[in-house]
Amino acid sequence: MKRTKSDTRSIESSHTALPELPLSEIRQRLLKWYARGRRDLPWRLDQDPYKVWVSEIMLQQTRAEVVAPYFERFIARFPTLGALAEAREAEVLSAWSGLGYYSRGRRLHATARAVVARHGGAFPALPAEVRALPGVGPYTAGAILSIAFGQREPAIDGNVRRVLARLAALEQDLSRRPGEEAVRGLAERLVPPQAPGDFNQALMELGATVCTPRSPRCPICPLRSLCRALALGRPADFPRELGRTKKEEWIHVAALFRDPSGRVLLVQRPADARLLPGLWHLPGLFLPQAEASQAVRTLERELRSLLGRRIRLGQAVAETTHQITFRRIRAVAYGGDASSVPDPLQHGVWTSDPRSDGLPTSSLLQKLLAGLGAPRQLGLPAIGPAPSQPD
Ligand code: SF4
Repeated sequence: MKRTKSDTRSIESSHTALPELPLSEIRQRLLKWYARGRRDLPWRLDQDPYKVWVSEIMLQQTRAEVVAPYFERFIARFPTLGALAEAREAEVLSAWSGLGYYSRGRRLHATARAVVARHGGAFPALPAEVRALPGVGPYTAGAILSIAFGQREPAIDGNVRRVLARLAALEQDLSRRPGEEAVRGLAERLVPPQAPGDFNQALMELGATVCTPRSPRCPICPLRSLCRALALGRPADFPRELGRTKKEEWIHVAALFRDPSGRVLLVQRPADARLLPGLWHLPGLFLPQAEASQAVRTLERELRSLLGRRIRLGQAVAETTHQITFRRIRAVAYGGDASSVPDPLQHGVWTSDPRSDGLPTSSLLQKLLAGLGAPRQLGLPAIGPAPSQPD
């Protein structure tokens, strides 16, 4: 394919000169690849800005295959932005249950109300107005503007950063401003005036399915002959993110009270809790790993305040691992005597199916409950002291 002079000009930011890249050729190859093999995903059926926005919020930190059924259920329940704005927060969080990162569900709801208040319920199309909406960051704004309104705006998520960093073999640290600006400069130059939404989605799709974090599938990549990281023989060395937040190790200890009919006791976490605020969960605690040795004792003391009587927890009945933002959490549920729970219990409910009871919960709770009866043996050291003996 013939390259024009403008295609190969150097891409520069205020901090660094980027290598020459054939912009038109990259665009053409990507768009062709996307048109031929894009995944069939429910939010791609039309360009309704409401649906584009909902899908983009759901897709943050969650894979498309996981999001698809949640998206369909959510749209069936709240088919328009107005319907979402009118709903109660508990209904929205209930529909969000299982997707994790509940702050996203809350923000979605708050933003829907802001669109109704500021724009009469019609999603704005002006970049400044979209960016001014609460909870709409630069990535989401770029996705909405390009996909729903056909505007030439980049949409830089983690997948796009990775593809661009490899394509241009960017040596800058992307966790720092010059690196960020280099990626943004490249994305701005690359996004074409025609079909910007398809182009942005093609880049994201390439990052999600081909240019994956650990094992990029370069032999099937449509950009392989243009990719500088591949030419250098070290695609997995990019992107460079030296200052990335380190993962923190946390533990979650919880009490599992199960009544004779199989229902479990859930309590609502405080609205200002640092983790999973407002969600229905097993009575339990989240603690840094450093406090693990006293975790069960601490939980027993908390249960005494909650239930008004002394509780001794039994054996571990379910355990799992989970990640919430930068926290890696090891979760263990210990069995408790259901007959020691007062009836009724303020702020507590017995349920066999939180979702159908309209209780917003977390995917961590679902993982724990899924492991009941057959706790996964993770081969990890015990949390806290050996389980207490019953009185
Ligand atoms: S050739 Fe490999 S490293 Fe380069 S963009 Fe394609 S998949 Fe990513």
